[in-house]
Amino acid sequence: MTPLLSRLRFPVGSSRGRRYPELSHPYRNEFQRDRDRIVHARAFRRLEDKTQVFPDTLSDHFRNRLTHTIEVAQLARTAARALGLDEDLTEALALAHDIGHPPFAHAGEEELNRQMSRFGERFDHNLHSLRIVESFEQPYACFPGLNLTFEVREGIVKHSRDIAPGESPELDEYLPGQRPPLEAQLIDLADEIAYNTADLDDAFSAGFYSVEDIGAAIPDYAELAEFVDTQIPGAAPQVRFRETLRRLIDALVTGLIEGVAAAAGEAGVRDHNEVRLHSSRLACYTPGAGRLSRALKSFLYKRVYASEVLTAERRKSTRMMAELFEFFLQHPGKLPPPYAERAASQPPHRVVCDYIAGMTDGFFRRTYRQMIG
Ligand code: MG
Repeated sequence: MTPLLSRLRFPVGSSRGRRYPELSHPYRNEFQRDRDRIVHARAFRRLEDKTQVFPDTLSDHFRNRLTHTIEVAQLARTAARALGLDEDLTEALALAHDIGHPPFAHAGEEELNRQMSRFGERFDHNLHSLRIVESFEQPYACFPGLNLTFEVREGIVKHSRDIAPGESPELDEYLPGQRPPLEAQLIDLADEIAYNTADLDDAFSAGFYSVEDIGAAIPDYAELAEFVDTQIPGAAPQVRFRETLRRLIDALVTGLIEGVAAAAGEAGVRDHNEVRLHSSRLACYTPGAGRLSRALKSFLYKRVYASEVLTAERRKSTRMMAELFEFFLQHPGKLPPPYAERAASQPPHRVVCDYIAGMTDGFFRRTYRQMIG
């Protein structure tokens, strides 16, 4: 297959570069170095002990945020390669896309946001990712943060939504009002394909539903499952499920690749600059893959995310997070030294939020036990 959109690839040589200039590397280009810096970051390693959807207390086979991230990177790279886009930029952004995620998945993010809204602020994991790579990571002697290229920092804040001019002074440098490169636009949909299919898989192994239940709710799934039955008649439900799931992932990734190619063709954009200036994002599915993705999402919402098991789990972690947040607000002296020092000169709620957001689920539980019991 010839790459469809090589003309829209963001050329690494056109990067706006790093905040602190560095010498180039003999055999890794700037986006490859950024990818490596992300993989070596402490915040990246912490993803291993952050919940994706299912808590690890239920099974060893569920995705956590690290294995989810690897799946996103793998799907996004496949799409980027097929389209002729920059695989290194895509991979770096996929690996960084959840680096600022707090413990306890969406419940944790929502609770931190709720706590911050008491002070007229908000918590957004993409903005937190930016703070991590800009200042909290400290691996180098000569500058703070990871000193990533402009395009990787921009992609971290803009991969899932555009920013409007004047939205926030801290984001003014990231070309508000313009679209990010196509490589960054791919990440949001690769993320969606990865979590929809992974959650379908994890919840199936956890016994939330049968293959018949999925087929009854999602006609495209039923069609794929029927095809699988003709290929391997009489197979066990788990085998049928896995064989259908791989075709489902393939259908969605193919729908993404063809959708982006069609949208770019229709928009008539000729290079990466025109992608930036185009009035809307170009990353999208074909109509069929879009329908399938929406059907998956609504099935998962009803059968999994709103289930009693996960709702109870979310209530528990939300309550613990609210308690620990309040505890540190009342006792800033109990924060570890660097945070306690910051709390003396910066708004304490911001410092507490940063501290909790960086925690793994395990570290959160240990701290909760230690501080609150
Ligand atoms: Mg994600």
